[in-house]
Amino acid sequence: MRFKDKVALITGGGSGIGAATARLMAREGARVVVADLVTEAAESIAAETGGLALTVDVADRAAVEAMVARTVEAHGTLDILVNNAGIGCFGRTPDLEPETWERVIAIDLNAVFYACRAAIPHMTGRATAIVNTASISGLAGDYGLTAYNAAKAGVINYTRSLAVDHAREGIRVNCLCPGLIATPLTASAKTIPGLEAGWHDTIPMGRAGTPEEMAEVIAFLASDAASYVTGAAFVADGGQTAWTGQPN
Ligand code: NAD
Repeated sequence: MRFKDKVALITGGGSGIGAATARLMAREGARVVVADLVTEAAESIAAETGGLALTVDVADRAAVEAMVARTVEAHGTLDILVNNAGIGCFGRTPDLEPETWERVIAIDLNAVFYACRAAIPHMTGRATAIVNTASISGLAGDYGLTAYNAAKAGVINYTRSLAVDHAREGIRVNCLCPGLIATPLTASAKTIPGLEAGWHDTIPMGRAGTPEEMAEVIAFLASDAASYVTGAAFVADGGQTAWTGQPN
């Protein structure tokens, strides 16, 4: 019961990594708030976990502020913030519409700032934790994931900046850098011919990770077991970024 009586707000909690995180934290005693763009998804995971469902577009600053306010109103506090909502989008620079770039940056990067800005005043002065879901695409570039690569790199260094600024207030801030994880997000990309097989060839463990495996890392980073860990970009990628790419 690592999260007994803790209040955990999880964006993108209606699917994939966020849903697995909500389930794990709820199982270990947390009162979870499941925030998602898709109302039915948020409601379904909230019903399963005994949590509160909130519909929010994280690209909308006012909606993000309302999400944090609603959480604090419902539970009186906020102990754990998991900024996990995200979208991917393929397109090399000449072909990428500026509106697409702006939407990806808004959801994958700006939203993290909006949520932290609203949440930090409620999290300061005691042991609390923020975990941002970044990506190994923020450590090195993935072909064609132009805006996503840029946004996730931003999340990684923004995480470090938050960690430094708020360490003495008791707020630990870390990010998870998943590799290829089997979720609806990557299922949609599988339609690109050859992409899935190519992915697996680049992963020393030879398989995609699961949302549950990512939830375990997020839970560790959010828990007191990680009490001296802040500003970390924790890679969980089956060895993908440990490999030079030299053929076996
Ligand atoms: P997913 O599509 O299963 O879940 C993402 C959730 O975010 C969905 O429920 C979706 O409705 C929600 N969402 C999307 N846009 C939103 C918005 N504007 N406002 C609120 N909610 C919104 O995908 P996932 O794979 O679980 O992704 C979770 C996070 O993990 C994302 O930040 C993603 O970039 C990151 N990630 C995923 C992988 C992977 O291989 N699956 C790898 C690295 C990083």
